[in-house]
Amino acid sequence: MKTPPTLGVYVQAPFCQTKCTYCNFHTGVFSRDLYRPYVDAVCQEIRESAELRGLAVDTVYLGGGTPSLLDPSDLARILDTIRATHACGLQEVTLEADPETITREKAGAWCAAGIGRISMGVQSFCDVELRAAGRMHRRADIYNANEILRGAGIANISMDLIAGLPHQTRASWELSLKELLALRPEHISIYLLEVDEGSRLGREILASGARYGASAVPSEDEMAEFYELACERLAKKKYEHYEISNWAQRGRASKHNLKYWRREPYLGFGAGAHSFDGARRWANLHDPAAYTAVMQRGASVREQEETVTAKQALEEELFLGLRELAGIDLARIEKQYSADLTPRVRKLIEDGLIEREGERIRLSPARLTISNEAFVELLG
Ligand code: SF4
Repeated sequence: MKTPPTLGVYVQAPFCQTKCTYCNFHTGVFSRDLYRPYVDAVCQEIRESAELRGLAVDTVYLGGGTPSLLDPSDLARILDTIRATHACGLQEVTLEADPETITREKAGAWCAAGIGRISMGVQSFCDVELRAAGRMHRRADIYNANEILRGAGIANISMDLIAGLPHQTRASWELSLKELLALRPEHISIYLLEVDEGSRLGREILASGARYGASAVPSEDEMAEFYELACERLAKKKYEHYEISNWAQRGRASKHNLKYWRREPYLGFGAGAHSFDGARRWANLHDPAAYTAVMQRGASVREQEETVTAKQALEEELFLGLRELAGIDLARIEKQYSADLTPRVRKLIEDGLIEREGERIRLSPARLTISNEAFVELLG
C-alpha cells in the first residue's frame, strides 16, 4: 500500500546582518523593528492558508537569510502556529544559523521550541576568505557555536562549505575540509560559488576590479578540483554522497530537502517563499516590508502562480530527480508521462555523463561537476 504524502513547511526569514559579497538572494539588512510585525504576518499567513490541510506536516525548515537573528520566542511562535493549524508528526525541524549569532540562551530556547536540527553557515575555516566574502563570523566562532549547540543537546548539525571563495587555494581548501571533518557534523553541504552580476562580487569581477578579492577568485577548473577533493575526503570518512551538493552520515539526509528533489508537496510562508502542492507552484512577494504591509491589509501576498504542465512536470522529474545520486526510475517516468527518453539517455550514456543500472539512471559519479551538460542534453 502506498504511504499517504506528508507535507514540508518552509518559513523564510529574509533578514541578514550584512550582505555577503557573493549573495544574490532576495535578502537584506532591514531594521530590527520589522522582525516582530514580519513574524506576525507569517503566523497570519500560516493560519489563513487553506492549502493541503489534510496532510500531516513532518518537516519544517526555518531558512533565510539568517533566521537565527530572530528572537527565539518568535521562532517558537511560528512553530506553535504550524502545530495549531496542521496535523503534525514532526520528524525534522531545521533552523539555519550563522555561527556568530549562536548563543547559549538561544540554543536552549531553540531546543525547547522543538528545533532539533541546525544548519550552520560555516562557508570556510579561513578568516581571510570569510572576510573577503563579507561574512560576519570568523573561524573561532564556528568552534564556539559548535560547542554551544552540542552542549545544548543538538544532535543533528549540518555544516556547509563554499568552494571558489576569493583567496581560496588548494591548501586552504584542504584545511577547511580537515577542520570540518574533525567536528563530525551529521550532514555536510558543499556548494560551488556561483557568481553573477546580481552580487557585488559579480559586478566587481565583470568590471575587472579587485574589491572583495574579485581578482583572487579560483578558476572553474580549480573549483572542480576542490569539489572532487571533497568527494574523496568525505567518502573516506564514511559520509554518504546522496545529492550533488549534499553528504550525510547514515540516516541523516535532509528529510525536508529530499521533498524538493522528489517533487513532494511543500508550503512556503514569508517573503519570497515558494510552494508546490503537486499540481501548482506559487511564490510570495519578495520584499519583507511589502509582504508585511500586504498581509496587514488582508490582501494576497502571492505574486506568481502557475499550474505545472505535463511537459514541465517531466522536466522537473529529470532535473530535480537526477540531483539525487541514487538516480531515477526511467521506466516509471516514461510510463507516467508517455515519453520515450531512451534515445536521449543512450547518447548521454555513450558520452559518459549518465550510467544505467536496470531501470535506474543516474549521473556518473566522476562527472558530477559538469552535471549541467547532462541536464541540458536530457531536457533537450
Ligand atoms: S549569503 Fe546568506 S547570510 Fe549572506 S547575505 Fe545572502 S542570505 Fe544573507
